[in-house]
Amino acid sequence: MKRLIFLLTLISITAHAQQKMVWPHHKKSVIILTYDDALPSQLKTAVPQLEKANLTATFFLTGASVDKSITQWREVAKAGFELGNHTIYHPCTPENDNPTSSATYTTYQMCREIQVMNTLLFAIDGHTTRTFSYPCTDTLAGGKSYISALKQAGLIKYGRLGGDATAIVTDFDHLDPLLVPSYGLDKDTPASALIDYVKHVQQVGGMGIIMFHGIGGDWIKTSPEDHQQLVDYLKTHHKEIWIATFQQAMDYITRSKVKMPLKEKAEKPALAAIGN
Ligand SMILES: [Zn+2]
Repeated sequence: MKRLIFLLTLISITAHAQQKMVWPHHKKSVIILTYDDALPSQLKTAVPQLEKANLTATFFLTGASVDKSITQWREVAKAGFELGNHTIYHPCTPENDNPTSSATYTTYQMCREIQVMNTLLFAIDGHTTRTFSYPCTDTLAGGKSYISALKQAGLIKYGRLGGDATAIVTDFDHLDPLLVPSYGLDKDTPASALIDYVKHVQQVGGMGIIMFHGIGGDWIKTSPEDHQQLVDYLKTHHKEIWIATFQQAMDYITRSKVKMPLKEKAEKPALAAIGN
């Protein structure tokens, strides 16, 4: 009998895990375009391409990079794009090619820097809830994870991590809102790879996040032509694909999860029974 209950529980969990998210406006999946480091080439090329196609996106700004471009970023925010927090000095582990090492940071200093960056972003766009991308997709300060300190500080609503082309979210019940994976692009990733990723997200009805850096300039460049081809694909398929900011998509997912309390309650004892 115990064995039968165990098997039925497993079947129930599997069935639930395969349940697809119902996306707004009858869309079949969501794609989130994100751009890190507040780079000039994003203002010069990415923003105009996106605006022309009427697509939104999230730009994760580093405070130390916006001294000459605050006015432009304010215009980007006014145009409906999301500005996210990418710290002030971009601290990460010393082995990364990065001027500011996080090795001497404490978790408190890291959280304090993120808090001050929130203040700077508030001064730019007036928003009070903020998403975050981890510098170098690294979660360490002084060699220790700062994730739980960041959670406790309540500074950040959602956090974006790195990953590769397999970073497609379909299991929303177990998604940690502060550890959301993304497809971090290598330099010169061709449009074909970008579009293949989007098609894969469409096939599974999930959420795909792409992490860009430079567009035709700066670093970890994607060419303007490849970026434009992706934009064109998304525009052509906008009836099936919801193109949202990181915060819009995660707010929707969070609300959808709140509407499913009975399933959550039913799952907990079942998971405990199989020793998870
Ligand atoms: Zn960065």
